[in-house]
Amino acid sequence: MTELIRIPVGIVNCYLLRLGHTSVLVDCANPGSEEKIVEALGRHGLAPDNLRMILLTHNHPDHSGTAAWFREHYGLPIAMHPEDIVVGPLKQEGLGGLILGAGTKLVMGGTHEVLPDIALEGGQSLKEYGIPADVLHLPGHTAGSVGLLLDGRRLVCGDLYMNFVGPHLAYIAEDFDRMRNSERKLLARPVDIVFPGHGRPFRFARVTEEAEGRARTKMPLKHPKQADCMDCPNTQGKP
Ligand SMILES: [Zn+2]
Ligand SMILES: [Zn+2]
Repeated sequence: MTELIRIPVGIVNCYLLRLGHTSVLVDCANPGSEEKIVEALGRHGLAPDNLRMILLTHNHPDHSGTAAWFREHYGLPIAMHPEDIVVGPLKQEGLGGLILGAGTKLVMGGTHEVLPDIALEGGQSLKEYGIPADVLHLPGHTAGSVGLLLDGRRLVCGDLYMNFVGPHLAYIAEDFDRMRNSERKLLARPVDIVFPGHGRPFRFARVTEEAEGRARTKMPLKHPKQADCMDCPNTQGKP
């Protein structure tokens, strides 16, 4: 089984995917965290030169803040979904959203553009890069949010879920309906452990009951081409 190491930098997680002699860094924390990440790599016997690429679950600066630095200094390619080159504004829900929304401004310090060298897309296998993982497009938190499904059972989910005081669907998102739809698609997969963008990993079973409840009360999706969209619950099977 591929070794997946959580590297917390402040309140955000980076993950190190060990692949024999090289590794992949999944998410890379806020701008200014470069030294902390290099030190953390060193603790695992690695230098940035040993990395194969930086893979971003989404382009919020707390996850992508040092990507350009690693590309510039070490020539590392950045893999990301192109819909996140520039991210949209975040909405918030409930008390958690209010708190996170206020904290987000402090933590993220605005948005920034990141151009991918490798464009990720949903359903893509990363085997060609020597990574035993599939890309799941999980839009909602941002339009280009992706998850990384390792060995079919372990999911690095970006900010779809956070685990600050117990695991929960993100309270802040660009589009909550899209995010719930992404969650609903996950329910059909045999995910065992979730590795979130914030907080400790947790068993997917801890959130599936709530997720199934949300799926049962699903809202019709606001979608510009609803009639053509196989994800839209109201139009499936109709011409
Ligand atoms: Zn985020
Ligand atoms: Zn985040």
